Amino acid sequence: MAPRRTRTLEIARRAEPVPGALDGRLVLIADDDRAIVSRIREHLAQQRYRFVEAFDGTQVLTALREHRPDLLLMDVEMPGLGGVEVCRIVKANQSETGFGFLPVILMTARSGKGAKVEGLELGADDYLTKPFDLLELSARVKSMLRLKALQDALVEKNRELDRANRELDQKRQELLELSRTDGLTGLTNRRHFEERLVAEFTRSTRYRSPLSCLLLDIDHFKKVNDNWGHPFGDLVLKEVAQVTRKVLRDVDVLARYGGEELVALLPETSREEAYAAAERMRQGVEGLRLPFSAPGKPTVDVRCTASIGVATYPAPGIDAQDALVSAADECLYAAKQNGRNQVQQHEH
Ligand code: GH3
Ligand code: MG
Ligand code: MG
Ligand code: MG
Repeated sequence: MAPRRTRTLEIARRAEPVPGALDGRLVLIADDDRAIVSRIREHLAQQRYRFVEAFDGTQVLTALREHRPDLLLMDVEMPGLGGVEVCRIVKANQSETGFGFLPVILMTARSGKGAKVEGLELGADDYLTKPFDLLELSARVKSMLRLKALQDALVEKNRELDRANRELDQKRQELLELSRTDGLTGLTNRRHFEERLVAEFTRSTRYRSPLSCLLLDIDHFKKVNDNWGHPFGDLVLKEVAQVTRKVLRDVDVLARYGGEELVALLPETSREEAYAAAERMRQGVEGLRLPFSAPGKPTVDVRCTASIGVATYPAPGIDAQDALVSAADECLYAAKQNGRNQVQQHEH
């Protein structure tokens, strides 16, 4: 990956300076020679920057934390913690939780090309040799502040992008959720059930753990619609879905299979446990009392029942996920034939 600073520098070169854009920018001037600090400050005062001063390396670090300056103009030769060490610390802590990106201009009395190269290699962004021309100093300060302003804008843009990306992720998640949900009952829809079925069947085969499938169909549902109207039929469907969901475990899949049929997939569930779960479902539906009221008529408690077919894998003849559902469907048919409101289980 290309270093961030390089990218910013390119933008800095291309960008037109915005008049007044650097007003109020905070410059930290550090030198153990107070006269130099004053001289620089007086000269730069013509620009509308703000200033903080420091006279040794430790003060620089304190001022960095307290004032978060936009530029550090720092002497190399200071007693104690020198400019080079401070520069190294600053550049090692460029993360947003640290000092962030902070341009550093080092100043040194040492002359010659060697000193300049050394300074730049230490991560300084620019380098001045004393005694320096104040006009040159001013130009370099301005250039570095412009760089910092562009960098700040970039950081802000990145933050905005992050925010937008997070929102997009959330929307995507919501959309995915929606595409898996049945609009009426709020249960998982058939398409998602098929996906889960493949995954659970594979898992069950791999780990040799039992997998049970329950198909539920509301009895004489056509009559419910005929007697109480389609909207009330919808309500019955919702209630049946809810009561059924309640008797299952969180890991069980419950989906609307179509019309007034629900399908449940129970991982790690044996024949006996599956039968018990189906019976709980049947009883739950049988126990529903759904008040129907029409103007001018007494309220009636509508009741309904359901038939359920149960099959468990592994079992002879069940060699694929479709066979598991088919076996449950055959049992459901048998339950209907046998008088409804009952559970029928696939035989070994
Ligand atoms: P059986 O006991 O044999 O299952 O009888 P049944 O009347 O339930 O079966 P049938 O398949 O003849 O009728 C199912 C009815 O379910 C017909 C259809 O109008 C109704 N139905 C299907 N989906 C919905 C729905 O979303 N809302 C409502 N209110 N009714 C639905
Ligand atoms: Mg010095
Ligand atoms: Mg049906
Ligand atoms: Mg039915």
